[in-house]
Amino acid sequence: MTGNTLFIYPRRGLYLITRCSNCNHTYQCNNCDANLVTYKKWEKNLELVCHQCQSYYSYPTQCENCGENGISSFIGGIDKLAQEIKTITDVEPTRLDNKRLKPDFSKKDHPFVTTRVYDPAIDYSVMSKVILIAADNLLSSPDYMVMEETIKNLTELILATPQTSNIIFDTKDLENEFFTKVVSICNQPSSTYKEVLNWYREFLTSESNIRDKYGFPPYKNLILVTSQLKNRQKSIDNINDFKRILDRYRLEKFPEISVSSSYPARFLRRKNHYSYHLLIKYPKQYKNFFNLRNVIKNEASRIGLQVRLNPKNLF
Ligand SMILES: [Zn+2]
Ligand SMILES: [Zn+2]
Repeated sequence: MTGNTLFIYPRRGLYLITRCSNCNHTYQCNNCDANLVTYKKWEKNLELVCHQCQSYYSYPTQCENCGENGISSFIGGIDKLAQEIKTITDVEPTRLDNKRLKPDFSKKDHPFVTTRVYDPAIDYSVMSKVILIAADNLLSSPDYMVMEETIKNLTELILATPQTSNIIFDTKDLENEFFTKVVSICNQPSSTYKEVLNWYREFLTSESNIRDKYGFPPYKNLILVTSQLKNRQKSIDNINDFKRILDRYRLEKFPEISVSSSYPARFLRRKNHYSYHLLIKYPKQYKNFFNLRNVIKNEASRIGLQVRLNPKNLF
């Protein structure tokens, strides 16, 4: 290996999926429906961890569904990546995702691994190569702020990496307009800070047009109302009761607002509670805001719903 290489891979743990090869049963958390991630506990001891609710399970020796022994885990996370790098290069890569250890950036021809796209604690000036593994994952979340944060982090990463270094995007999605653009910027030997910042500014402009069109902040304010109960049907009923009440108020008092239909949260089940959302949009500097706020506050607390103003995550 010549020069230092930084591997960025935003997936924690050893393996992302665990499955029985006999009946194809996959392992999910009993308290949520999240896939369980395999971690190495001690020497050869594995455990399954839920990233959503921090539940821990011992690694199965027999399938809980069919009783056979053929359990295997696959799709490697950052721990597996670190193992593979060690196998190939015979060098133990430095983990930058472990905040307890202070990393030594003075090493030469050395591999480093991290789960964060940009981390101000990393000394990028010593890296000859920066490789984003499975970069397609960067775009996998549907929330409206995620794209903005990803681009902000990428901009920071490109600006922090020396111009003589290579930034390599490992992606299967070669047609993706987003990657084509980033890659073309990173591949220009003469690309300057100004070009990177121009690219960032262009993104913000087009993003702000999209937000304007769909009524997201800063053009409208959002209120996300959430019901969260162990009883799934009761959770749906509660959010729909709230919607009926609010629709009536809207017709009589608040014609400027919009109220979505209720919809399930992305992680529908979390810590054994079922979550449903409702999204309300109202204009900036809304003259009737205090009345609207009181109605929402009173009705939501009567039914037992959570209320959040302009949240980052809408799902
Ligand atoms: Zn099985
Ligand atoms: Zn869980």
